[in-house]
Amino acid sequence: MSIVQSAILNICSNFRLPAEPCVLCGSMSHHGVWCEACDAALPYLAGSHCPVCAKPAPNGEVCGHCLKDPPAFSHTVAVFAYSFPIDRLIQAMKYDEQIFLARMMAKKLAPLPDRSNLPDCLIAMPLHPARLKSRGFNQAQLIAKPLSKSLGIPLLNQACQRLRDTPSQTSLPYDQRGKNMRGAFGCDADFSGKHVALVDDVMTSGASMNALAKAALTKGAARVSAWVIARTT
Ligand SMILES: [Zn+2]
Ligand SMILES: [Zn+2]
Repeated sequence: MSIVQSAILNICSNFRLPAEPCVLCGSMSHHGVWCEACDAALPYLAGSHCPVCAKPAPNGEVCGHCLKDPPAFSHTVAVFAYSFPIDRLIQAMKYDEQIFLARMMAKKLAPLPDRSNLPDCLIAMPLHPARLKSRGFNQAQLIAKPLSKSLGIPLLNQACQRLRDTPSQTSLPYDQRGKNMRGAFGCDADFSGKHVALVDDVMTSGASMNALAKAALTKGAARVSAWVIARTT
């Protein structure tokens, strides 16, 4: 390729997206809401991890915890480790309704799920109606919507509900989180034989995901996957 051709290609690729200030460093970004340099420094989930819960595990084998007490979901897809600056970006998305951040995060998650085993439908982790009313939006839904669109998988908005407005999981020790979530969700839809993917922003103890997956299995789901933007490691 000649120098002129590569210069033209360079200019064209720079014009693919309008330049905007990077949310992380403030320099002009053609890459999206954060620039390429900041993207390269993000805590992408690296190394081998448990295919079930996405916690670090040697050789990518199922971890001891999942072997001993398997969760109701059988697979987790996670983009990032929940650490700086992803934690800050997720907080911004959650409390300031930064839809553009949700779109960028969905864009990062979209290529990861196994194309030979895509789910039949997506469910965004439901918020309790009282919580939804006070927050005004559901951040899991903000992520699930563009995923549904780009992957062509239906997002079922009304299929599952949060029945109890449980105390915040973060206020509880890990061992009480499962108990806190018991019976927290209900699903109306019939998932018979379906592969269902549950979408959320962060997986910490996995207790909410487990409880929602149980509710989907109760309604006949054949397989439940967990799709999250970030995983605590
Ligand atoms: Zn940047
Ligand atoms: Zn595991």
